Amino acid sequence: AKAAGSNAIRLYDSSMDDAARNRSVLAADMRQGITRSEFELYYQYQNSSQTRDIIGFEVLLRWNHPVRGKVPPLDFIPIAEKNGFIHELGEWVLRTACQEAAGWNNPVNIAVNVAPAQLADANFPQRVNRILLETGLSAARLELEITESGIIADQQHALHIIRQLKDLGVRIAMDDYGTGYSSLSTLQNFPFDKIKIDRAFIDGVNSNRQSAAIVRSTIILAQSLNIPVLAEGVEREEHMDFLRREGCLQVQGYLFGKPMPLSGIAHIVNAAPGT
Ligand code: C2E
Ligand code: CA
Ligand code: CA
Ligand code: CA
Repeated sequence: AKAAGSNAIRLYDSSMDDAARNRSVLAADMRQGITRSEFELYYQYQNSSQTRDIIGFEVLLRWNHPVRGKVPPLDFIPIAEKNGFIHELGEWVLRTACQEAAGWNNPVNIAVNVAPAQLADANFPQRVNRILLETGLSAARLELEITESGIIADQQHALHIIRQLKDLGVRIAMDDYGTGYSSLSTLQNFPFDKIKIDRAFIDGVNSNRQSAAIVRSTIILAQSLNIPVLAEGVEREEHMDFLRREGCLQVQGYLFGKPMPLSGIAHIVNAAPGT
């Protein structure tokens, strides 16, 4: 396929294999993507498992590439992490999400994903603070989702940064719980405000004894630690039955809705307060 207009020639290098060439073309396109407004935020419901009320939205990045169409985040975020662009991209996501949410009538919470490299940046708490001040979003409405890979490299440093973030008043969620190397010791050492159980475990709760046991014990663990727990990847009513029975109070998944552009949630976030 003919890729990326003006960058195609400069980036062509016969020593690179197709995958590497593809990555470097994408990397160059990404830089232009921000200025050309090709990135867009999608929002996915997070709901109470009891009342099914909306308790917030997870913000998920989308790239509408002029040639390739919609590029999934897992195809470009790892590239952005490798070439350092994730700092600029992550900052754009955070600022745009805070800007959008600050303008809503209905003050629902937003949860924004933070890449390991962003969290490692000693200036990250200041950046977050500046964005909150500039956009006017109340810190209490912002949750940052971090993964274990973002904190294992230098635990002391990560802890220091997380404490500063919490001092600002934002909440910290541990994302993809259960998929890391040492989720239990991570829980012991970090002051999380939420645990998100990875959808890899939710999928099997009704059919696989191991998945059911892992999810059940995670819910109990979180309850004992007094940390709210959210189940990701809830796709079926049977998942809901299991999760409600086991006491998981928050859910997110296709059963409630796929991630949607801002226009798809406008009727909720622009509803008059109290309706
Ligand atoms: P994640 O943070 O674990 O986000 C949840 C992913 O699961 C999303 O995929 C979402 O669309 C998908 N999902 C939600 N409910 C269901 C369900 O019921 N069934 C299934 N099969 N999938 C469900 P998405 O949007 O493709 O994002 C993939 C990953 O890309 C995210 O995983 C996150 O790691 C990363 N990502 C997305 N946006 C950002 C961002 O702004 N910054 C960073 N650093 N990473 C992001
Ligand atoms: Ca997430
Ligand atoms: Ca997740
Ligand atoms: Ca994930």
